[in-house]
Amino acid sequence: MNQAATKQRIGFIGLGIMGSNMAGHILAAGYPVNVYNRSPEKGKALVAKGAKWFDTPGALAAESDVIITMVGFPSDVEQVYLHAGNILDNAKNAYLIDMTTSSPSLAVKIAQEAKKRGCHSIDAPVSGGDIGARDAKLSIMVGADQADFDAVLPILQLMGANIVLQGGPGAGQHTKMCNQIVIAGTIMGVSEGLAYAKKCGLHPETVLKSIGGGAASGFQLNILGAKMIQDDFEPGFFVEHFIKDLSIALEEANALNLDLPSVTLAKQLYTKLVAKGYGRKGTQVVYKNYIP
Ligand code: NAP
Repeated sequence: MNQAATKQRIGFIGLGIMGSNMAGHILAAGYPVNVYNRSPEKGKALVAKGAKWFDTPGALAAESDVIITMVGFPSDVEQVYLHAGNILDNAKNAYLIDMTTSSPSLAVKIAQEAKKRGCHSIDAPVSGGDIGARDAKLSIMVGADQADFDAVLPILQLMGANIVLQGGPGAGQHTKMCNQIVIAGTIMGVSEGLAYAKKCGLHPETVLKSIGGGAASGFQLNILGAKMIQDDFEPGFFVEHFIKDLSIALEEANALNLDLPSVTLAKQLYTKLVAKGYGRKGTQVVYKNYIP
């Protein structure tokens, strides 16, 4: 018997930098994978490996037991779930896992709509970057009911190495905001430290050998800092997506009456970069605010 025939049918929508790798791991594990992406050419490599292409999110949802979305912005999430004829109108008793970084309130709204239709909704944004997606080592932050989390854990384990249930619907997205708030301050610190190294006449690569092995070490310094000093500003993680995340974090913090000065500053610096045409570069391009 075909091994794939015994497994749940996994629908995957959003086959960009992150989604293409994540869907690839599920396919490689022997699951039947249905795919859809706004630009069809991004589905071709997966279809060549055995995935089945669908022309709309609704058509994909009607033939999938688990539907995973990894699109760009909350407006994309709204479109694929809530717009007429899309996922929620077509899914049948399915598990709906949104892994996009999106707003916590939208995750709650989708969970309510899903429940009305007999579906199960899970918000499961990720951290670990393009490298984490490629290596199936993502940290996955989950908001869901315990039973729904247990049901989809084996699928999440194909993409991630650190998978934690944080609470009910929306808790995954709130946790991802904590992550982005930490990164906002960190990446500005990394670029300021490396700009200082350059200006004071040190050799930035050699500086990185010291500070990258000490208390300042981490993904932002060791991976993105190294790219800054090599003038490699390719994404990775798009500036325009980071601004989206910082905007969600500020909106949520505002509702909580919490002031986040470093997030506010990061949003200003990144917005300046968009005006200079760097919106589709990687977040390490913040270095250009200091060393143009
Ligand atoms: P990406 O390369 O732009 O991928 C998003 C994909 O979703 C694109 O291929 C896009 O189609 C597709 N898409 C967008 N709206 C759609 C819609 N309405 N219907 C169907 N497909 C749609 O971005 P990414 O870097 O993979 O990031 C995806 C999400 O993960 C974002 O929310 C981002 O903030 C988050 N994230 C990214 C990273 C990272 O390091 N890259 C890390 C953690 C989290 P097109 O091809 O037509 O544009």
